[in-house]
Amino acid sequence: MSPNPAPGDPSSAEGDTTAPTALGSAEPAPTETRAPGDDHAAAPRSRPRRSTVILGSGLALLVVAASAGFFWLSAQLAASQKQILDQQQQITDQQRELEEQRAQLDRKEQFGAAMQELYATIDPLVGLPYASLVPWSEVEGFAHSAWVHRESVVTMERDITDVKMFTTKLANRVEAARSMASTNATGSPWEAALDSLGHGWVTMTYDESNRPCGLEAMACVSSADPFVVHVSSDTRDTSTLTDWMRTGVAYHEYSHVLQFTNPEATASALTAFGGNAETMADCYALTFLDGWTLDHVVPIDSSSYWEVSVGYGYTCDDAQRQVIRDWVGSLGVQKRTVSQ
Ligand SMILES: [Zn+2]
Repeated sequence: MSPNPAPGDPSSAEGDTTAPTALGSAEPAPTETRAPGDDHAAAPRSRPRRSTVILGSGLALLVVAASAGFFWLSAQLAASQKQILDQQQQITDQQRELEEQRAQLDRKEQFGAAMQELYATIDPLVGLPYASLVPWSEVEGFAHSAWVHRESVVTMERDITDVKMFTTKLANRVEAARSMASTNATGSPWEAALDSLGHGWVTMTYDESNRPCGLEAMACVSSADPFVVHVSSDTRDTSTLTDWMRTGVAYHEYSHVLQFTNPEATASALTAFGGNAETMADCYALTFLDGWTLDHVVPIDSSSYWEVSVGYGYTCDDAQRQVIRDWVGSLGVQKRTVSQ
């Protein structure tokens, strides 16, 4: 009994050649020896090539797919990043817009508060016969500017400053006028008359340089300083004047105060006097100072006297006196509502 298989024993031969196959891969190595004409051996030889191609294709597709996936992912990331940046920009823009709106609201409130303070300064002046104390056109101008500048914080701040400066100026002016008018330093009939007529706003001063208003006039009022009556100092003791005459001239001068502080109403009333502010001022004294005349007799002693004419030589008629009454009735600071 030989242990070696007989040559040509198909089972033994096959068993030898197939042994590695059984132990190794199901796919025989390409170098493996095969019997010619063995159909069974030919089929497994072509399969690995297809598989390799398929696998290669698969890998290629996978690489392509992976590349495409990577590209898609990159594109998505880029798109997401841009979206995030856009959203951040949008948030920043919205925050800035909100801050601007908040700043605008703050300025609007500050402007409103400044205007309220201005109105509080104006209120005590309402009814005084001096319209120019409150230039409403400027007050209305502030409100108009604030409306035009409502979306600009910087210009609104300027408007607020303007209103505050105007209020301070007006308050100082009011304080100065009150302070001056409350002091009756001279104790003269001039000042007594002006105190009773002027609502505490008008005072007088003796001008020591004499004739500050020209050679003819004993007193005058300047448009630049309309609440002060300037009186020549030589009117104090002259024998040609009486206190009654001084009082009448004080009325005449107070009329000038009203003329300067009420320019619009005065321009209309002046037409009844041919545009002459002096005859109009004389007419004011003749209308409101009972018994006043322009011509006076001033006794010197028991046998002599002065004939003194005070004024501008024209005694107004009743129609003109009515114009004066209407004029006085129309004067003064009036309350207005300014829309903001
Ligand atoms: Zn005059």
